[in-house]
This record gives sequence, C-alpha cells and structure tokens, in this order.
Amino acid sequence: MTTHPALGPSQTAGLVCAHHHLYSGLARGMPAPPRTPTEFLEILELVWWRLDRALDADTIYWSAKLGALEALERGCTAIIDHHESPNAIEGSLSLIEQACAEVGVRVSCAYGVTDRHGPEGAQRGLAENDRFLREGGHGMVGVHAAFTCTDDTLAAAAELAARHGVGVHIHVAEGPTDAGAADRIRHLTTPDWMIIHGVHLDDQHGLQGTIIHNPRSNMNNAVGYARPTRFTNPVGLGSDGIGADMLDEFRVAYVRLREHDVTETPDTVWAMLNTNHDLFPEALDDRVTWSYQPIDPWRLAFTTGVNPTKVEVDGETMWENGQPTRVDANEIRAKAAEAATRLFANIEAL
Ligand SMILES: [Zn+2]
Repeated sequence: MTTHPALGPSQTAGLVCAHHHLYSGLARGMPAPPRTPTEFLEILELVWWRLDRALDADTIYWSAKLGALEALERGCTAIIDHHESPNAIEGSLSLIEQACAEVGVRVSCAYGVTDRHGPEGAQRGLAENDRFLREGGHGMVGVHAAFTCTDDTLAAAAELAARHGVGVHIHVAEGPTDAGAADRIRHLTTPDWMIIHGVHLDDQHGLQGTIIHNPRSNMNNAVGYARPTRFTNPVGLGSDGIGADMLDEFRVAYVRLREHDVTETPDTVWAMLNTNHDLFPEALDDRVTWSYQPIDPWRLAFTTGVNPTKVEVDGETMWENGQPTRVDANEIRAKAAEAATRLFANIEAL
C-alpha cells in the first residue's frame, strides 16, 4: 500500500493536469493563419490542424520536453496528455513518455484517433495506442472527437480500450459542431472514460466517465460555458494545452464559475483538482512546497503569484532553487526554440 507523504501548511500533493496537449508547446509564435478564424471549427482547421500535420518526431519530442518542464515549474507532476501528429503517428507516444521521464514528470499518453485523414489514418492511430499500451506504457486510448470519426472507428477505440483495461480520452461537445456526440458514444462509454469539455452536452446526457472542464480554453475558443456544476459525473480540471499551471487554471475556473453563479465557492473548483488525483493517483506520492501558506481554496482563489519552491516526485527532488534537478532548463528552452523554427517552416510549407 502506498504511503502518501504528510503535507505541511505550505504543501500540496503534486498537481495533475487532467487534459493537456503537449504538442502545442511550440505553438506560441507560430505563423498567423491564412485568415482570421471566426468560429470553433475554423480555429481547428486554420490553426490546430495545420500545426498537428507539421509535427515530426523531433518537434514532438521538444514540445513535450518544454511542456513537461513548464509543468514541473508550476508544481504539476502528472499530465494526462492527448496527442495528434498525423504525419508522425508511429512511436509518437513513446517520444512524449521519454521526454516527460527525462524531466521527471509523470504522463499518461493517448493518441487522438480520427478519420480526418481517411480510414488508414484512423487505423494507424488505433495501432499507436495499442502498441504503446501493449508495451506497458501508462495511457488511455485517445479519440479526437466523435464528429471526426466514423461509428466503426468509435466502436474500435472503445473495444481497444476495454481490451487494455483503460478508458477512452475523447473531446465531447466542445463546440456546436460536435453537439450530437452524446448520441453516438453513449452506448460505448464506461466509468473510466474521460469526457473532455462537454460544453454543449444536455444536462441529462447519459454519458459515463469523468468530465474534464477547461475554462480558459473554452473562453479562448468562444464555445460557451460548460456550466460544470450541472453534471452528476465527477468533474476534473484541464488546461487543454495552455500550459499546466493548475493553480492558475483553478483561479480562472473559479471566477468563470462565479460569473455564472455568485453564490459559488472556490471549494467547488478545488474539488475538481481532487478529482484529477482520482484519475492520476500516483501524483499523491509527490509533494510541492509553495511560497504561500496556508493552502486554502478561499485564499488561493485571490492570491496570484503563488510559486513552488520545491517539487518532489516519488521522493526525489525534481525542482528546487528555481531549477529542475535532472535537466538543464536553458538547454531545453534553446533546443525547443530551434525546433519551433523548424516547425513553423513546416507549417508554412504545408
Ligand atoms: Zn483538448
């Protein structure tokens, strides 16, 4: 049985980002889209589906390594990642796993299967999930979203996940374009699924699994507010690729909730961070010492700039005195910047 370290007044367990896209780590500074997207589907088509097609093994590795470093710096010791790189599928999850291990951050990997690149692309995505899990990788079966998959692909992903004893990690009803997702996956879902966003789900959607709320991303994409307190499912908190600063995400989630219901409290959102630990319980073995005490949701909701002073993962100090202990942060940033230059050239060449 695991013995969790006792926590002092300025300490928490390792924080968990319950939905990340490490592949977006190099996206900052990417070339502007050919025209300004005016709604969610255009944001996918003109920004993210250009970026993911431009990824290769080298840029996958450096985006993950930079993302892992930035997570560690913010006391996030466990990342549940959702990856897509349609022109570099095979082996991609192992690259992400390797990059995170080198930094000392835990990761759960999933490849987002999709039929956007035809049935062969979907098969390759399923095969990458299968390979990674068969080889003992920590992960789930990823699906991009119902609206980019055939019913056969959705069923195959559910079957593969069940065979490996894991859940499916899937975007659901993020924007209006995926509002019909629930009717297509309801019969497939099980309690170990991760339902990402759920913005456009009905209150009585009938899906099993944990819903992951990503308030900053939802606001940025103008897809609407998920109103997460209406769900009876467990609800966790993710960044959807905008870093892994979960205290910051907690504050954003709180003010967005409060805008919706002024009687709400920070405890409601803090409970989402606890749900994240149910999804990645290994992070309970990690310890983060913060620059502020006591660790109290009401105080933290209104205290900006709270920083880790020390991050321990499974008993090993991974970050202290403003630096990671296993890797050179300056080297990672320099190499990631070089990789970003190549990535941007790839995007321009598409
Ligand atoms: Zn996402």
